[in-house]
Formats: sequence, structure tokens, C-alpha cells
Amino acid sequence: MAVPLETNLPAFANDISDVARMMLPGGSDAALTHTHAEEDGFWVERCGYGGRTLEWRVRPPEPDGMEREAFALLRKRLMKRAAKQCCYYLLRNATGHAPPWGALTGIRPTRLYAERLADGDPDPERTLVRRYDVRPDKAALLGEVARAQSPYLSAPPDAVDIYVGIPYCVTRCAYCSFKTETVPKDPRGTDAYVDALVFEIQQTRRMMDEVGLSPQALYVGGGTPTALDAPRLDRTLAALDEAFCREPGVMEYTVEAGRPDTLDDARLAALRGHPVTRVSINPQTMNDSTLELIGRRHTAAQTVEAFARARAVGFNNINMDLIAALPGETTEDFARTLEAARALGPESLTAHTLALKRASRLSGDASYVAVDQATAEAMVTMGMDAARSMGMSPYYLYRQKQTVGDMENVGYAKPGRLCVYNIDMMEETVSILALGAGGISKRVRRDPREGLRIERAANMMESRRYIERIGEMVGRKRALWGISP
Ligand code: SF4
Repeated sequence: MAVPLETNLPAFANDISDVARMMLPGGSDAALTHTHAEEDGFWVERCGYGGRTLEWRVRPPEPDGMEREAFALLRKRLMKRAAKQCCYYLLRNATGHAPPWGALTGIRPTRLYAERLADGDPDPERTLVRRYDVRPDKAALLGEVARAQSPYLSAPPDAVDIYVGIPYCVTRCAYCSFKTETVPKDPRGTDAYVDALVFEIQQTRRMMDEVGLSPQALYVGGGTPTALDAPRLDRTLAALDEAFCREPGVMEYTVEAGRPDTLDDARLAALRGHPVTRVSINPQTMNDSTLELIGRRHTAAQTVEAFARARAVGFNNINMDLIAALPGETTEDFARTLEAARALGPESLTAHTLALKRASRLSGDASYVAVDQATAEAMVTMGMDAARSMGMSPYYLYRQKQTVGDMENVGYAKPGRLCVYNIDMMEETVSILALGAGGISKRVRRDPREGLRIERAANMMESRRYIERIGEMVGRKRALWGISP
């Protein structure tokens, strides 16, 4: 059930509705009302709900020599923030509900923290608690993440990260909202995709030479890259080596082996035949009944075997992705998963909280009942405690909409084992050239007058259309960097 909304800023209606959904998860018959006005040099937000009203006054920003376009964007962002804060505090007063991340929706907490630091705020954690109602333990976590990231937030101006997407998976997970495709039974069915990808890799290298870009981190994700069979995986990685690994500077090279059942000896040999520095083996849970329920069609024992095989061939930087609050799981189930992960001893761990995205099978499953806030929170805390007990610290953090219990996703790593690409992607400090179906390239520019400017160019989502229009995909990236096709 939704929450009816009336606002005189319709451009912000979706963002205000996100706040209403978070604060009134069961929906409401009563409408939330909001008006924005400019009075005596102030922005005045007025909200009403269920007979209560709240007025919120904010001093608008000054241009301070900014470009007109950049200043207009800043005004819009701050105006939206003021409207959301006013609605949040009104609904907090009306319901007594205080979510762990307070008024923060639709903004990356780490970005807000960095913004506060850049504005000279001596204590961003305190500001987040006082102004945005972020719970002190979450603000402290954010501070820890910000400190871990700070050495990686400035890259040389010519640095760029390379993302390569393989859109295939062996089956579709119940919670998945990505546009993935089931890998064809006959491996030749992926030949046209690999051909197109190799072409895009070569053309991207050519373009990088033309504009003077150097690869910093390489990330092969998806989908499940290891859903490709060993020869096709090898061919893809060989093209990446040729294009991006023949010069000093690539500081890390990750390949996701998302499904442990795809990590056989032949694929591991293919990975070891190239300078891959980090692999991610993602069980999500180590409980077989849950794995079956979420449609992953592998077992916990296969994860243990895949991990041992990866170690045996020499991988010394292995990540594992886990998900808290999976369907039917209790804290005891999650404790078993964490214990199994500890026994394997990965170098890093990404602890997600289940997000119920509309495009997922799970969101339409009437029999699914999400765990309550307290259980989701207990699981997230267990994930953090387990990671810390393995000698890891949090280094990247993000939140998604529709996450059970309004919790967060956190990447933990042992010293020196964090994934720079994960930081770059979340913090948008480095441009990304994204190759393959569904990839979104980002050109990131920072200018004291223009502020942060991010322009994007998306590849086609579907492999068939990506293959058909591969020339156009290359052209879109060239146009993003302002060069002719
Ligand atoms: S392995 Fe990842 S990309 Fe593939 S279906 Fe599952 S969640 Fe989606």
C-alpha cells in the first residue's frame, strides 16, 4: 500500500515518496503534504501528516563563483534534501520510527560524509547524527569507512578503471534484479558475444591511447564471468591482457566467480593463465536448503571445494559475498554461514543485506515473509563481528532501496586486500570504461568552478542487441570522451 503525496515540487515526488515508504512501510490512507516556498531569504518547507505539521527553514546556497549549470544542480540537490528532511522529521514525530540511517535515502552515506569533510566540517559524524538523525553507531561505521578509503580517493588525472560485464548465469537467483541471461547449453552459443566483447576491448584500448588514459583497476563481473566455458573465458582474458596489462600501472585485476559450481579446474587454469590478482567466490549462504530455495543450484560443499581449488592453484586474494536476511533464514542459519566463511579464511568479505527489488522473482512471491527489523539488524551486526574477528575492517559501504530492515551492504577486507575498484565505483572518484552488455561507462570530472560532473554512456542490456550494435557501443564511449567515431 502506498502513501498518498501532495507536493508543489512534483520533480521531487519520487524522492519524498521514498522517505514516506521508509517511514510508513505498511502504507497509509492519510496523505503526506509538502509545500516549498521562498520567504525572507530562506527556503521554507512545510509538511503535514495525520493532523501534524512541521516547518523546516534552510538558508539557500550562495553561487561562490560556480558555473551557472553547476550552481543550478547544487540548488536542486539541496532543495530536494530540505524537502526530504522536513518530511522525515514530521513522520518520525508522528510514528516514533527511527530507522538506523535516519533521514538518508537516495544519497550515498559516504558521499555525504565526504561532502561534509570538503565543506570543512570538523566532525561529520556528529553532523550526520544531529542533522540527519543517523544512529551514532552507523555514523561511526561511516567514519571508519571514510578513513579506510581516503588514501584511494585521488587518482592520477589519466587513470580509468575498466569494467567488463559477462551477462550469463547458470540459473537465476530468486532475489536477482539484474538483466542476466541463462548461459546457453552449447558453449558455442556465447561465441558471438565473446567476438563482440573482444572487438570492444581492442577498440577501447585504441581510444584510450588517443585520449591518453591509463588503466588503474580491472574488474570482470556480471552475471557470472565463469559461466563462460574455459576456452571462451581464456579468450576474453587474453584480449584483456593484450589491451590493458602490458604496461605498469594496473594495480588490481578481479574476476568474479560468482557461482562456486562454475569454478572447475579448467576455468581455474584459464584464470591462472592471466594476471588475475583477485577472485570472488560468492556462496551468499552456506545453508543448502536456502541455496535451493533461492534457486542457486549449488551446495555449500561445492563452495568449500571451489575455495580449496582456488587456493591450491595459488590465488591468495579471495573475496566472498554473503547475504543477510535471505528467505527463511534465522540468525542461527546466518551464524552457520559466517562460521563456514571463517573456516575458509577469505581475504575479504562483502556482507549484503537482502534487497527486495521489483524486478526480482522474490518480490512477487506472496509466500515470502521478510525477517523483522531486529533480526535483520542482528544479522548485520553478526556479519560485522565475524569480519572483524577475521582481522578485516570495513572499507566500502552502500545502501539500496527496499533493503530488509533499512540496513546496509558493507565490504570488509584484511589490511592491504581491499578492492580499489569497489571504492572507485561507489565513490565515483575515477572514470570507468564499461565493456560488455549492460555496462555503463562514466566520465568523472572535478572542477573547482563546475564541481563534480559525471556523464554516462550505457551499452545495450541484452546480449543480442549488444552484439548487433557493437559499433555503436564503441562510438558511445568515444563520444563520451569527445572524440569522433
Ligand atoms: S549469480 Fe548474481 S547475477 Fe547471476 S542470477 Fe544470481 S544474483 Fe543475479
